[in-house]
Amino acid sequence: MPYFLDTILDFLFPERCLGCHKAGVILCSDCVINLPTFREQENDFVFSTLNYQKEIVKKAVWLLKYRRKKELAKIFAGIVYENILEEIPDLKTFENFSDPILIPIPLSEKRYKERGFNQAELIAEHVSDMSATSGGRFVLEKNILKKIKDTPNQARIKDRSIRLENLKNCFSISEPEGIQKIKNRNIILIDDVITTGATLLEAKKTLEKFGAKKVYAFTVAH
Ligand SMILES: [Zn+2]
Repeated sequence: MPYFLDTILDFLFPERCLGCHKAGVILCSDCVINLPTFREQENDFVFSTLNYQKEIVKKAVWLLKYRRKKELAKIFAGIVYENILEEIPDLKTFENFSDPILIPIPLSEKRYKERGFNQAELIAEHVSDMSATSGGRFVLEKNILKKIKDTPNQARIKDRSIRLENLKNCFSISEPEGIQKIKNRNIILIDDVITTGATLLEAKKTLEKFGAKKVYAFTVAH
């Protein structure tokens, strides 16, 4: 949708909280705290917080992605950052996972041009900023991992082997700086939603192939 239409719609329908419909905010702090969470963990390297099956979560993710409600990126970043802080002490102790670099899951160039921004990158930027103000800054690297192949929407492909085949070699690492930067480094991948996990797994494999030490992923929702 063109930008001016967004603006007209915002004028006609002033923002209301997705949860309690209070005017003036897209998600009020009370409703952020009460967002439905995701419990079980399928992939041992992915940590997700919110339950994407719930309407309010789905709506919020959609509004950031397709209606450019960028204030949601900051809210999501807070949720992701909290989860990182919760998990990192154990990862440090048991996996020697220290001093990680933040890398958002990239969009292909075509998709980036269509959308005008990458929601994962936006979330990762806020996470990096938040970490800076509480010490122990996570350095954000948004140009290391590249999406070199445009892949169809993973959620629509039911067959797992086809999904994996589509994703094969869809990522690459920028040379030579990217390869130097990830060598023997721990990495936190950031994305908005994990659907099948195949995309994150492919990104992890690519980073490891090029010398990264350990790779974990944090997503807003599952
Ligand atoms: Zn509310």
